[in-house]
Amino acid sequence: MPEILKKLINIISLLPWIWDKSATKLAFFLLNANSNYITNFAKTLVDLKQNIWKCEDCNSLLDSWKDKCEICSNKERKHDIICIVEEYLDMLSIEQTWYYNWTYHILGWAISPINWVFVWDLNFPTLFKRIENNSHTELILATNPNIEWEATAMYIKEEIEKRWLKNKVIITRLSKWISAWYIEYADNISLINSIKDRKEI
Ligand SMILES: [Zn+2]
Repeated sequence: MPEILKKLINIISLLPWIWDKSATKLAFFLLNANSNYITNFAKTLVDLKQNIWKCEDCNSLLDSWKDKCEICSNKERKHDIICIVEEYLDMLSIEQTWYYNWTYHILGWAISPINWVFVWDLNFPTLFKRIENNSHTELILATNPNIEWEATAMYIKEEIEKRWLKNKVIITRLSKWISAWYIEYADNISLINSIKDRKEI
């Protein structure tokens, strides 16, 4: 087998959800594909790293030539309700319910010292700045149910008290409807019910 083909199979096999045989099949699909498609595919991969930045307010993904994402720059959105999620995909799942008109804050991780993820690795500074700029805020912790997120929720609560923001912040979290699942995989009805029944903590 030509070296470049072996290399391609090897690179594809490093992707998640790819088995050995599917790596080979995909490599042969690419080998036989139309050259315009291949050029476009390769260019998109390079652009992916160069043309995606983070929103300066909420840490969401956006085109490199913009400062703020579509949600943060939308005046129709409720900027006094901030839904906190771990990842961009969690935000997408909630947005896909078409049910809520608030804003988001993407922390990027949950605090987990055992995995070398500490407070300073998360996108907290802009979150507290946003809260300080609002006269009143509801923070919704739309987080996956695990010990790392318990620690993260505790940190947010303590930090709000330390910064004398307690009187103007309500912190809520999702009800138990999706307690056994990850938000990314929850169906729309469960997600909507879980958010509707959110409880103050
Ligand atoms: Zn944003």
